[in-house]
Amino acid sequence: MNVQKNGTKKGMIVSPIENGTVIDHLPPGRAVRIARMLGLTEGAVVIIGQNLKSTKYGRKDLIKVENRFLTDEECSRIALFAPNATVNIIRDSELVEKRKVSIPDVVEGIAICSNANCITNKEPVPTRMVTVSRSPVVIACYYCGYEVKAEDLRLRG
Ligand SMILES: [Zn+2]
Repeated sequence: MNVQKNGTKKGMIVSPIENGTVIDHLPPGRAVRIARMLGLTEGAVVIIGQNLKSTKYGRKDLIKVENRFLTDEECSRIALFAPNATVNIIRDSELVEKRKVSIPDVVEGIAICSNANCITNKEPVPTRMVTVSRSPVVIACYYCGYEVKAEDLRLRG
């Protein structure tokens, strides 16, 4: 039985979560990668839905995480891989905030430069990537200028 309780909207898959975050409208196949990037796979109760039906985009992924709320920086990292994502914040079983994500101007530390000769791959220098295009999202290494589409961005760990 699929009984929907707390005021869920049509087409939105939200089984009850008391406190936490629902990251919705992720492109299919991206949820696991995004959950890993955010470090959600370490300890928290996480539910990942993949290839769910979406009225807006055909298919989508979704991440639900209990008792975890995202910082603005984390939301902007999501935007790199899912520019249309929405971040829903649930408190006491109520949807209290629905945020759109926005692509960051600078991404520090989490990515790996794809240029093997880049200083960030040879010396212990934290990576720094700069957004050079937003549609499609393209980012460039601050040090060597190597450009990569955000969806092809390699992440640490
Ligand atoms: Zn580089």
